Amino acid sequence: MKTIDLVVPCYNEEEGLEHFVLETNKVIDTLPAYSFRYILVNDGSKDKTYLVIKKLAARFDNIKYISFSRNFGKEAAMYAGLQHCDADYVVVMDADLQHPPAVFPQMLDAMEQGYDCCATKRDEREGESFFRGAFSKLFFRISNRMTDVKNPYGAMDFRMMTRQMVNAILELSEVQRFSKGIFSWVGFHTKWITFKTVDRELGQSSWKFSSLFRYAIDGITCFSVTPLRFTAVMGAIIFLLSLVYIIITLIQTLFFGIQTPGYVTTLCAVLFLGGLTEMSIGILGEYIGRIYMETKDRPIYITKHSNFDQDDAQP
Ligand code: UDP
Ligand code: MG
Repeated sequence: MKTIDLVVPCYNEEEGLEHFVLETNKVIDTLPAYSFRYILVNDGSKDKTYLVIKKLAARFDNIKYISFSRNFGKEAAMYAGLQHCDADYVVVMDADLQHPPAVFPQMLDAMEQGYDCCATKRDEREGESFFRGAFSKLFFRISNRMTDVKNPYGAMDFRMMTRQMVNAILELSEVQRFSKGIFSWVGFHTKWITFKTVDRELGQSSWKFSSLFRYAIDGITCFSVTPLRFTAVMGAIIFLLSLVYIIITLIQTLFFGIQTPGYVTTLCAVLFLGGLTEMSIGILGEYIGRIYMETKDRPIYITKHSNFDQDDAQP
């Protein structure tokens, strides 16, 4: 019998978690040829998620959990879950039923056909504001162009993968994780399926627009040095232009004497160059900050409680 691990990051999900497990169990019951196990990762929730998880684990014997010492973020929670799975196929999914377990049969079909991964993308995101939608479209376009990561528009983390692919993902042990990029970067044959997203039934989405913006910057800087190259190219262009301008001014001065001083030209040059320099330093800083954080080599997460045996995690 093939085994399947469901990795589920949970942050402040006390309201919906039981509902999630019950709904998912309904789908699992229709797939008797597979043995499912949950790996619930409590990402330092501030509500009673941990207690709910413990209660669920006492009720169902296929529920394993890891509970962090604080909030480390969804990426860290996914990593922890992946480290602890040992099934043939592994699914990563959200705890809010926005990733419907109803597509498991479709995913399993793809896996049995020989795909390494069956990933999902959303059809249209209802309930999403125009601004948010436009922003995410722009982000997909920019990041696909700038990085090696090629994701279709609307790609989601929700996917089923082989153990082999999970092992490859675990090899990428960087602290600043950007899963959508990592999933794509490791390669493997992926089938994309589409489904209509639904609104969160219970609890609240923990994403603010500012964190989405951060997420977009991470998506680009984690996988590409194009912004750095951009500053170099801008510098070169401005250098060449100013060379031309210097030569023209020199010739003018030599042959026609000193002209009236240009207040506007000077002001524009100072402001333009100042702005550009600041921006370039900012981009540099973004990368240096990343190098700094990576060199610390800190753990991606810290476990406080777990019902796994001590040495279950993959190195
Ligand atoms: N999540 C997490 N840590 C966080 C934020 C979110 O583990 O710091 C989990 C959350 O419990 C949910 C999933 O990540 O299972 C997606 O979160 P959410 O529904 O808030 O995001 P959205 O669906 O809006 O992308
Ligand atoms: Mg959600």
